[in-house]
Amino acid sequence: MSRAVAGPEIERLIQLLARLPGLGPRSARRAALHLIKKRESLMAPLNTAMGDVLGRIVECRVCGNLDVSDPCTVCTDPGRESATLFVVADVADLWALERTGVHRARYHVLGGVLSPLDGIGPDDLTIAKLIERVPREGVAEVILALGATVDGQTTAHYITDLLRGLDVKVTRLAQGVPMGGELDYLDEGTLSAAIRARTPL
Ligand code: ZN
Repeated sequence: MSRAVAGPEIERLIQLLARLPGLGPRSARRAALHLIKKRESLMAPLNTAMGDVLGRIVECRVCGNLDVSDPCTVCTDPGRESATLFVVADVADLWALERTGVHRARYHVLGGVLSPLDGIGPDDLTIAKLIERVPREGVAEVILALGATVDGQTTAHYITDLLRGLDVKVTRLAQGVPMGGELDYLDEGTLSAAIRARTPL
């Protein structure tokens, strides 16, 4: 245990920052010091922004996104292509896909993936709600944007089976060589997926 360099209030701030994903105790200390130095231009506005958001966060009843309005900003955006639905495991995946700016589709957040080992079954996810949404909202294509893990792929197959019989095209994200990736750095699984998903030039 390192010795405290500041009062308990500041140590508490550091401990809380250290709980953020991607921040260890050392970077939390650096972040806290940065906030303290920039207290007028950064800490105060951050405090206000957090206060504005806290207590107003709701889960969108349509797609499962987290926002300060329900339905959320994405669901009420008139510029969305309503016939295409991205199915994602988590809100983080929705935000990641939005960051690409490639597709103006809508979303469905499952709340996880099927995982028999962790006791997560279909009823723990919003799969039934998805199957209802597709015909009701006239969805023409469901894009399964789930992880390339065993559980992610199991979930994708499960949903594909349920959607069979409905008049909807089901696709999934391509898997393979990452942009800028050198072939000899890839693991065998990624490389064989890339060979299987090869496309004509
Ligand atoms: Zn929504």
